Amino acid sequence: MGFDITLAKRPHKKWIGLTIAIIVLTTACAKVIPEKEFPRTIIPSADQFTFHIQNSPDSIRVLYLGCGHLIILYRQENIVIDPFFSTHGFTKSKLFSDTIAFRKYENLLKKQRVNLNDTKSVWIAHTHYDHMSDLPLLLEKKRIVSTTPIYGNEDGASILQNFLTPQQYHPLTKELTYNPKQPTPVSFINASTSISVLSIRSDHAPHYKIFGLPIHLMKGKLKANYFKKNFVRATDTTSRGQWKEGRTYSYLIDFKTNNHIDYRLFIQTSASHYPLGRPPLDVLRERPVDVAFLCAASSDYVKKKYPVNILRDLFPNHPAKEAKVVWIHWEDFFGEPLEFEKARLVRMTNFKGLGKRLRKGGFTPDSIHQVMPRPGTVVTIK
Ligand SMILES: [Zn+2]
Repeated sequence: MGFDITLAKRPHKKWIGLTIAIIVLTTACAKVIPEKEFPRTIIPSADQFTFHIQNSPDSIRVLYLGCGHLIILYRQENIVIDPFFSTHGFTKSKLFSDTIAFRKYENLLKKQRVNLNDTKSVWIAHTHYDHMSDLPLLLEKKRIVSTTPIYGNEDGASILQNFLTPQQYHPLTKELTYNPKQPTPVSFINASTSISVLSIRSDHAPHYKIFGLPIHLMKGKLKANYFKKNFVRATDTTSRGQWKEGRTYSYLIDFKTNNHIDYRLFIQTSASHYPLGRPPLDVLRERPVDVAFLCAASSDYVKKKYPVNILRDLFPNHPAKEAKVVWIHWEDFFGEPLEFEKARLVRMTNFKGLGKRLRKGGFTPDSIHQVMPRPGTVVTIK
């Protein structure tokens, strides 16, 4: 989120929208989490949650670190999604990777037995700062090593240009991604020896609506030169508004033994206008997902049937109430970095409405099948 505001299709109303947006957003406070808030299983202290599936003797561990940041571990290898931990206050327009936060981040990873040096690939869902802005620090500190491939939209290469080795960045071009609106044959990309990823063209919900008018932040053309000049060291300060969204992707991730799929996960780190973001239906019919990771923030600003529409496709063979869902990007990320015990609900999202839509669609959240983990939690799938 940020202050560089584009009003979808109504640019002449930009200034009215900007003024109202600033007033509303600065006065809307993040809410304390009521005890029985949707989907009722916010883990009270950062630790553990387990889904029992029993597809393989090996288990998957997913460390949730807030917003879309996940580290997914399988058999001594891991992949990293949307690296971000240096949160900044809501009114701050200047961003930087926080080295004090980095120490805290490292301690947390150590506690959860995660070694970033085991990372086989990094995946960036879109280029807003809250989905990638700490990747330069991880590269500079050699936690993500220079031979680790990074996948993301075409703007990502411009943002990271001073931190990458040649050929390290792989833009997710049309040829490499599945587009649900123009389906073509699909191919998974090998993310590690036993993990493969299908990247899917997705999109990004507006951040909020004012009087029915969608407000979409940090859209538009990215200035490559800005990052070339101003983002040379990972701790350099950049302007929040420069982190343009670019194309957005969701991921279907397979965990395999030889050619057999042990587990299949779906990850979507921003709410999307269906069918964008949805994996191919025939691929899902052949092998439905085991667990879906979906974004709670702004989930009421896409078509009203979200997320029921996509959940029905992801879990075609299950009674709806058995669908296993992890709700991510639910917490307000404008506080102190990694102060997870103080996590509050993200502002401007109607969580009760999300719960209502889920119940109406049969996906009634219960504490076995759905979880909204506090950042710092490891979700185990075994
Ligand atoms: Zn975003």
